[in-house]
Amino acid sequence: MSRPLRAGGPQSRFCSRCELIMPERYDVVVIGAGPGGYVAAIRAAQLGMRVACIDKRDRLGGTCLNIGCIPSKALLQSSEKFAAAGKALAEHGVRVGEVGIDLAQMMARKDKVVDSLTRGVEFLFRKNKVDWLKGQARIAAPGQIALGGEAVEAGAIVIATGSESIALPGLAIDEERIVSSTGALALPRVPERLAVIGGGYIGLELGSVWARLGAKVTVIEYLDRIVPGMDRELGSALQRLLTRSGIVFKLATKVAGGTLGNDAVNLRLEPAGGAGENLAADVVLVAVGRRPFTDGLGLDELGVARDAAGRIGVNQDFVTNIAGIYAIGDAIRGPMLAHKAEEEGIAVVERLAGQKTEVRYDAIPSVVYTWPEAAAVGRSEEELKAAGVEYRVGKFPFSANPRARANAETDGFVKILADAATDRVLGVHMIGPDAGTLIAEAALAIEFGASAEDIARTCHAHPTLNEAVKEAAFAVAGRAIHI
Ligand code: FAD
Repeated sequence: MSRPLRAGGPQSRFCSRCELIMPERYDVVVIGAGPGGYVAAIRAAQLGMRVACIDKRDRLGGTCLNIGCIPSKALLQSSEKFAAAGKALAEHGVRVGEVGIDLAQMMARKDKVVDSLTRGVEFLFRKNKVDWLKGQARIAAPGQIALGGEAVEAGAIVIATGSESIALPGLAIDEERIVSSTGALALPRVPERLAVIGGGYIGLELGSVWARLGAKVTVIEYLDRIVPGMDRELGSALQRLLTRSGIVFKLATKVAGGTLGNDAVNLRLEPAGGAGENLAADVVLVAVGRRPFTDGLGLDELGVARDAAGRIGVNQDFVTNIAGIYAIGDAIRGPMLAHKAEEEGIAVVERLAGQKTEVRYDAIPSVVYTWPEAAAVGRSEEELKAAGVEYRVGKFPFSANPRARANAETDGFVKILADAATDRVLGVHMIGPDAGTLIAEAALAIEFGASAEDIARTCHAHPTLNEAVKEAAFAVAGRAIHI
């Protein structure tokens, strides 16, 4: 018999033998229902554990489903269709009439997508008999959680409380004129001028959305490159292509402050080695990174160790320095990505169940969902050079890929880095159409310890974009066929 989903506080139970009201007791309680937490909860239930997942939001899915991955991709898709209708379709001989934007409809569609996916997680909780408890959780002691004046007992507590946007001093977020990513996902009108502070993937994706819809977008980045975690060649190519699409970049430039005027937010920019300048914008998006969110959990009182960046310290079992308290996802070290959080969500509970699950951190792909997309897995050329690893490079441009030509989407390339001695694939970096999907093959290759020749000798269907990956793998040995 299935237990009801309880979207509310915990229910105490009555012990007839001792005649006492006992707190609800679970094998595992997960705090946070983002992709790390909800996946951990479902997997734990599959493993036969009694599980509850607590979240202070009204909806499941965490940052990712509510204010992150999903709404941003919904708007990227809608704005891409608008951009295609305005320009790209003409090349295909498709004539459309006057193209316009119904921003309210675009936002409503995005909200509908979010709503249906969060309800999907509710369904999965019901199906797997995971109790959903709503409220702000505080860990009172190992095995004990305080939730809205009630107590919940847990054999193990998994912290999956995610992260929050970092603010810039002197630029208070009001989510109207100075916005975080959350505000940038819900602007009521297309700003004439949008300043994006931060050239990481969130700034570039949301900057792309509004640039496609007509905003004049300027990206200001403190470093001398965008997407600093990615291979430098990939970052340079992405910057070139985004510049071509109309986005202006101001690199090696510090935002020293800003003032709210009647008509604009005025930013004070300080380029490295250059004269200061002002930049006026209707909306400023602050996208300078995210930090772990652990407020109100009671970690100081418990003595749970964190590093200088606020990340909870864990060992390979994801256990903190306090026995019985575990942590995963954005709240711990590693890339702040939904799929990384999911892998850790599965690993932490499988390890609790005595399995030896590992997360392969070198095989976690990262994607920038701009147009074209940029995607990477494994090590960059800079990292290999710094580590003194001898490697060979195979590159193949999408302009020589028949499917990319048929689609009229020929920008970009695939670059494979393989060990010079063993041919083992060490890193794959690509920019081009659907790179975010194509990268899965490269992640699999790294996961399986494949050589470049393994990829090259695998039959790829023709005509597909994936053939560019095969050709880049052949190019590692200097024998690409089509170039
Ligand atoms: P979260 O998803 O942040 O969930 C944590 C949950 O914990 C929240 O719901 C919060 O309410 C809850 N919580 C916190 N404290 C408590 C408490 N004390 N009691 C109860 N509940 C609590 N990643 C990708 O991989 N791909 C993308 O395309 C992508 N796009 C993004 C776009 C944007 C605009 C943003 C902001 C992020 C994006 N991310 C993307 C990052 C991704 O959203 C995060 O890496 C992911 O959500 C982290 O998952 P998590 O489970 O660790 O935490």
